[in-house]
Amino acid sequence: MKASKKNIVKRIGLLLCLLLLNPIGGITNVQADQSVLFAPPAPSTPSAPLSQDGRTQDPVSKKDSERRLAIIIDDLGNSMGGTEEILNLPVKVTVAVMPFMRSTEQDARRAHELGHDVLIHMPMEPKQGKPEWLGPGAILSAMTDEEVRKKVEEAIDNVPFAKGINNHMGSKITGDDRIMAVILQVCRERGLFFVDSKTNYWSVTSQISEKMGMPRLSNDIFLDDVHNTRHIAGQLRKIQDLLDQKGKCVAIGHVGVKGTITAATLKQYIPEFQARGVKFIGISELAKEQKGPGAPGRGVTSP
Ligand SMILES: [Zn+2]
Repeated sequence: MKASKKNIVKRIGLLLCLLLLNPIGGITNVQADQSVLFAPPAPSTPSAPLSQDGRTQDPVSKKDSERRLAIIIDDLGNSMGGTEEILNLPVKVTVAVMPFMRSTEQDARRAHELGHDVLIHMPMEPKQGKPEWLGPGAILSAMTDEEVRKKVEEAIDNVPFAKGINNHMGSKITGDDRIMAVILQVCRERGLFFVDSKTNYWSVTSQISEKMGMPRLSNDIFLDDVHNTRHIAGQLRKIQDLLDQKGKCVAIGHVGVKGTITAATLKQYIPEFQARGVKFIGISELAKEQKGPGAPGRGVTSP
């Protein structure tokens, strides 16, 4: 069981690498599937109980109002396919922008201007895969604490408007206590949070974040680990189930060679989510509500 989970995680990591390294997407004729993703919401029943002030107490409505979906789109910064379509989605999303790339500054600035959240998509060494898949400025397991700190600080300085960091690849690094402690310390000093993309099932990021009094944020589900409309629609259905269970969900998709498919499928199904009362939020909203009373803010170094 453990081995198969690990294999799945490795496969996801590999797919992400391939997506990033492929040339800019040329898929333009995405024929969106017109099928309805969810059954229509049940009409409110006239027999719903009334509270003392006369308003209906419909538990379904209350649950709907608590459904919040944070969609993160990874791998921006390199003029990848689907970037424009993602930025122009009619709802708030979070974009994770790779540092030191040709459109890093532009993508981060435009996303911010359009009201989206921005993350630094920090390249980190995976357990498997070639170093050249990582992109510039990557964190490697052989680095000293000081070298890791310098890489994180340089990346933060390179991506404007970022509210947090998530990992590009990184299955090896997110399982490394020493390195994750350095990365999270720099995040804390700079008032940023860290979102674990969950490329490693055995990631230590959540435990270290908790110890340091920082928000624990991680990916619940990949949207496009298989990159076609049918699979993405299936993942959106699973997201609806997760929202029913937990009230909130973090999902990660990608720009890249097939990025236009992710964007088009999201655009197609957004109205159905909205009709069911799902609110699209930036990941920073989930980070903020986890901040305890004693948690440090921007620029504050804890003892
Ligand atoms: Zn990535």
